[in-house]
Amino acid sequence: MNAEANGPFVDRRATRAIVDLDMYATNVRLIRSRLAPHVDLMAIVKANAYGHGARLIARTALAAGASDLGVATVGEGIQLRQFGIVAPILILGPIQIAEAETALRFDLSITVADESVLDAVAHAARATRRAAPAAVHLKVDSGMRRFGANPEYALALASRLAVDPNVSFAGIFTHFAAADEPMATTTRDQVACFRALLTNLNERGIKPERVHAANSAALLTASGTHCDLARAGIALYGLRPSPRVPLVSGMRPVLTLTSRIARIFDVPSGDAVGYGGTYRAASDIRAALIPLGYADGYRRGLSNKGEMIAHGWRLPVIGRVSMDQTVVAIPAEADLEVGDAVCIVSSDPANDGPTAERLAELLDTISYEIVTGISTRVPRYYLRGGNVVASESLATGVVEFS
Ligand SMILES: *Cc1c(COP(=O)(O)O)cnc(C)c1O
Repeated sequence: MNAEANGPFVDRRATRAIVDLDMYATNVRLIRSRLAPHVDLMAIVKANAYGHGARLIARTALAAGASDLGVATVGEGIQLRQFGIVAPILILGPIQIAEAETALRFDLSITVADESVLDAVAHAARATRRAAPAAVHLKVDSGMRRFGANPEYALALASRLAVDPNVSFAGIFTHFAAADEPMATTTRDQVACFRALLTNLNERGIKPERVHAANSAALLTASGTHCDLARAGIALYGLRPSPRVPLVSGMRPVLTLTSRIARIFDVPSGDAVGYGGTYRAASDIRAALIPLGYADGYRRGLSNKGEMIAHGWRLPVIGRVSMDQTVVAIPAEADLEVGDAVCIVSSDPANDGPTAERLAELLDTISYEIVTGISTRVPRYYLRGGNVVASESLATGVVEFS
């Protein structure tokens, strides 16, 4: 990896996320290879593409074989449209009535689970005098009890979607609560519930354009759930939906979080390090200052717990992680210098480094939260063929190409 190539980029901060677009494209192709040719792939790029930066990830997804994109909010969809992306973009989450018109203006497909939003979309479609009806996907709650219409209500909404000339019934979908636990019966029950509704619709001659259900976990473990389209997020970033769901061989994490040693200093035996003095040196040690903290997404829970890697040396976090800075101990034998690269989140599961999955384990959470938690203050650098080809500041929205 040649993240040294700084190119013309403005934000040259030492702490940066390196996103390997080739690896992401490989993951898209390997996931596609699991799907039958007629099944479409929606790349989920919500939350800034799980912290990877939505714009370049979205573009790469489409070039590598995804047909659709999924986002959580209207704003996320607009950002992609303004970047020149024309593929179908579905807003997976609930929108407010007041957002309907904006969503249509940017040609975003809207998920509907109740009548008031459907009314608002139909009304906005008339008001904006669109050439084509507004694309609507109906979300069905088949057991997760989060977002979606229950089957009976879904039937009523579908009947209306089928006849309203202002809207097109672009899709019907559900979401699994426990597909990452392959042995759970929950998924089977949800599939049965969803299928019963589809049969009911079919008997009434109501035909949504596409049916979808699978997330990454279901895509990888439950081939009966692929329907017309599969929605993959976490797997495309090279992370397992859970330790029980293996990826396709050859898939690897896409993101690395790196920094550089800003300062090396001695901590005499008995001295305490950082806020609250929660670490006290038991002997004379050497320490290094790393310019990242919890405001960058390096969680405070990693205080006295996390570990970074530099030139193969393990550097344990000592004292509290503070907002912008973290201190690590340096082994006596390690000949490290100021400016040396430090790996904070590793993309190499083989080297036993601090992968997103490992950090999630330490923090009793999931890798999703680790990567989405890398804040907008951290510039994203994009690799192609091992070279940095672009950089993006998620804080300012500026994308630069080398
Ligand atoms: C986020 C999301 C997905 C993707 O889930 P992964 O586990 O990341 O694959 C799929 N469908 C919906 C509705 C989502 O909100």
